[in-house]
Amino acid sequence: METKKCSKCGEAKDQAEFFRMKSSKDGLQSQCKKCTRECHKAWVAANPDRAKALGKARSCGERTVREVETARIKAVGKTCCVCGELKHLSEFEFFDTRAQRWSDDCLSCRKNKRLEHQRKYRAANKGVKAAENARYRNKNREKVKAIKKLYVENNREKVNAYRREWYMKNKQTKNLQGGTPCETDKQKGEK
Ligand SMILES: [Zn+2]
Ligand SMILES: [Zn+2]
Repeated sequence: METKKCSKCGEAKDQAEFFRMKSSKDGLQSQCKKCTRECHKAWVAANPDRAKALGKARSCGERTVREVETARIKAVGKTCCVCGELKHLSEFEFFDTRAQRWSDDCLSCRKNKRLEHQRKYRAANKGVKAAENARYRNKNREKVKAIKKLYVENNREKVNAYRREWYMKNKQTKNLQGGTPCETDKQKGEK
């Protein structure tokens, strides 16, 4: 007897306790029958009108529940579960061509969520990263120095050019501070 763990209740159950689902890897739903029924019951309670429409279409025997639902959202769009706005399907992420599924939250809400997550992650790791870098430099002071020295030796031209530029820039700043406006103009003209 092969068993499978239900993704909802976590119990390992006989495979017969799972509904079939063609698009999944093992051909079965991830939730057990009991959990699926409970989930469906909750959905019916929350969406009595849609449940009625689905039941009607089903009793006519022409379409599956998924097809009816897909046709409906294709026609009227989908309500985002985050911002609650009814939007066209192009505003949602399309997941699976076979199962015809769209994300529950719209693209802009998904993007916001991603940005928010990134921001939080950066904020949480900002100090950590800086401290890590400082710690590394302290611990490997000699190594860092050697790397720097090697770089200077290998890139003498570049480094010299950079130093010259830096020197000129700072010289100019000094002149700007102490010099007359005429001098500044002349220097600008030369550039
Ligand atoms: Zn279950
Ligand atoms: Zn949204």
